[in-house]
Amino acid sequence: MPEALAELIVATIEQGVAQAGTLTAYRKPLVAFAPADDPQFAALRHLAEPTHMLPEDLCPGARSVVSFFLPFDVSVVQANAAHRSRVAREWAVAYVETNALIGCITARLIALLGEWGVRAGAEPATGNFDPETLISRWSHKSVAVVAGLGSFGLHHMVITDAGCAGRFGSLVVAADLPPSPRVVKERCLYFYDGSCRACVDQCPIGALDVDGGIDKQRCWQRCLVFAEQFKALGVAEICGKCAIGPCALASTVEE
Ligand code: SF4
Ligand code: SF4
Repeated sequence: MPEALAELIVATIEQGVAQAGTLTAYRKPLVAFAPADDPQFAALRHLAEPTHMLPEDLCPGARSVVSFFLPFDVSVVQANAAHRSRVAREWAVAYVETNALIGCITARLIALLGEWGVRAGAEPATGNFDPETLISRWSHKSVAVVAGLGSFGLHHMVITDAGCAGRFGSLVVAADLPPSPRVVKERCLYFYDGSCRACVDQCPIGALDVDGGIDKQRCWQRCLVFAEQFKALGVAEICGKCAIGPCALASTVEE
């Protein structure tokens, strides 16, 4: 049963991307599973946000957490890298379309699992954060790290083996799934050997620093400027100039 459910979930995510019908093209999705009682979920209350939700809060009887990453095609990254400061329309489209796609995929998964008699619950891909602290009570990025899908880079985004240019989704399931092997490894070259700081250099407003800090409010104000510019597309609080460098499409650290 756990293996069959896992296969169903992976196939549904891959099928959802293959049949997305979006302007945005994607690379192969990444999917990982973690036990809902992994103590790292509770630890997020100390490490990230005291009110961070537990898997049980999303789905009573939670047994497993699914984390997935939909990596943008290289063309999306190239479009946003074409100008130092201006954000590419392709990047905004990718953000809006991918958030919607994640919503469709999780809704489909919840319905399919329901047919198997398995409860599941999810939070939206974005918009689920405190407007003052800008901290999410269910961080898809932190969940991805717990599930072993990636690790945080100097730019405060999660770098997977397919890079950081893409969007994360997650789902809590009231059934056992085979936990993914958690390979604890560094994927950010700065943290590995100090030889990269491209994201810090690429940030047009100096919101990042090499001590690991980020001025979230300045970053957010810049993202809101582009949200206004691209409002006809939907909600697109984006910038992404720190996510188009050497770790955009792959981990920068060689195995
Ligand atoms: S651009 Fe370089 S320093 Fe910044 S997160 Fe990526 S690998 Fe790390
Ligand atoms: S999203 Fe833009 S403003 Fe925010 S840290 Fe990255 S490059 Fe800087």
